[in-house]
Amino acid sequence: MANSIPASFDVIVCGAGPGGSTTAAYLGRLGRSVLLLDKAKFPRDKTCGDALSGKSMRVVRELGLVKEVEKLPHGSIRGVTFSSPNGALASVPFQSDDANREGGTGYCLRRMHTDNLFFQAAKNTQNVTVREQFQVQEVIFEDGKAVGVKGIDLSSPSREETAFRAKVIVGADGVNSAIARSCLGEKADLEPAHSCDAVRVYYSGISGLTDQIEIHFVKSIMPGYFWIFPMEDGTSNVGLGLVSKDLQERMKKEKTGLVQMLNHIIKEEPMFKERFANAKPLSPVTGWRLPFGSYRRQLAGEGWVLVGDAASLVDPFSGEGVGNATTAGRLAAQFIDEAIERNDLSRLSLGRYEAALWNELGAELATSYRMQQLGRHEWLLNLVIGKAATKPKVRELISASLASEHAKMKFDNPLTYVWLLLT
Ligand SMILES: Cc1cc2nc3c(=O)[nH]c(=O)nc-3n(C[C@H](O)[C@H](O)[C@H](O)COP(=O)(O)OP(=O)(O)OC[C@H]3O[C@@H](n4cnc5c(N)ncnc54)[C@H](O)[C@@H]3O)c2cc1C
Repeated sequence: MANSIPASFDVIVCGAGPGGSTTAAYLGRLGRSVLLLDKAKFPRDKTCGDALSGKSMRVVRELGLVKEVEKLPHGSIRGVTFSSPNGALASVPFQSDDANREGGTGYCLRRMHTDNLFFQAAKNTQNVTVREQFQVQEVIFEDGKAVGVKGIDLSSPSREETAFRAKVIVGADGVNSAIARSCLGEKADLEPAHSCDAVRVYYSGISGLTDQIEIHFVKSIMPGYFWIFPMEDGTSNVGLGLVSKDLQERMKKEKTGLVQMLNHIIKEEPMFKERFANAKPLSPVTGWRLPFGSYRRQLAGEGWVLVGDAASLVDPFSGEGVGNATTAGRLAAQFIDEAIERNDLSRLSLGRYEAALWNELGAELATSYRMQQLGRHEWLLNLVIGKAATKPKVRELISASLASEHAKMKFDNPLTYVWLLLT
């Protein structure tokens, strides 16, 4: 209730998705008073592939949520099946000693569940106050410093406007972040070359499912990819995504969109039409945008910080964003806590978060961007996946790259491709 919430906090976190809830939970644990705001009422859905990456599991584990994940309906995933534009199929298992995937098993868990777990973890943390159905409109600045937020109570018929004050404002309100817009102005616009449009639909009855997620570089949607991720009880999360710039060009040239491309694959592509012959859609097709971390935004300023999609941190090759959002939330909490301790909330002081984040994610995001660029070449995908289909050593390399960022960087080295040609 509006009246029972104090008007002032150490930190206001706007957006209670994985990024915001993680930030709030860690700050609460550090003893900081936090107001966590979200316009939605939890549990709420988020259009996503639902794959919980190894990186996401690190925070899931630290927040003590692994058992909760296991209790919820999910797909247990033991690897990735790739297909190339010329139709080669390579099945790559997760490594059994992957520290982030115990026993070499990962999870596909509906975001309705995943995000509610993170949200409840934050809500149950001491020092964290939550307010749902509160839409943040803008940051309040005084003398160039962020000192609070203004927003509306969506649950009240009068749509009452309320303001809250804090030492630090965190923008965790996703790809269309009102906080990023307030703090960065036009610089918060998405770059079509560094963002992606994607659609998702749930299905039952797809044949040939395994315990692996499937990533298909289908020729007709190159340079995008189509996915089938197995969920609970024989259901699947199905979708496809394309870099926004490529999609815009195709829409202009071929008058086609993501839904038409999806229907084409499901109904016409020889590799899939039999598998979908008896399949039934369980949801409408929904679309959303992914802001890639290949475009660096300013992530901290005078009294403010951005995390997750609001900070544009999605992996430009895989499209994974939950792990980077939770990594950012964890780091933001640490550096905000230190800045409050120093009583210095300047850009320079909070900028230590930005430096630490790029130190942790920068090299990996750069590799993923180069992989995305290389993945535009059909012949190269045919080479890598074709070799992986027949050569255990190539599968081992890909398997290692799914477990370790260090191994992934081998795909950045031209010698790896020479090795592939000769293998
Ligand atoms: C089709 C698709 C497939 C994807 N597949 C995967 C995948 O398989 N694995 C993966 O790791 N990532 C995937 N991603 C990326 C992932 O969904 C995002 O990176 C992730 O959700 C980012 O988390 P976040 O907390 O930053 O933002 P979000 O999850 O978007 O949460 C933002 C929160 O802010 C709230 N909010 C928004 N505006 C306001 C406002 N004005 N006031 C108050 N609250 C507000 C929203 O209600 C929401 O709860 C996919 C994305 C798409 C679109």
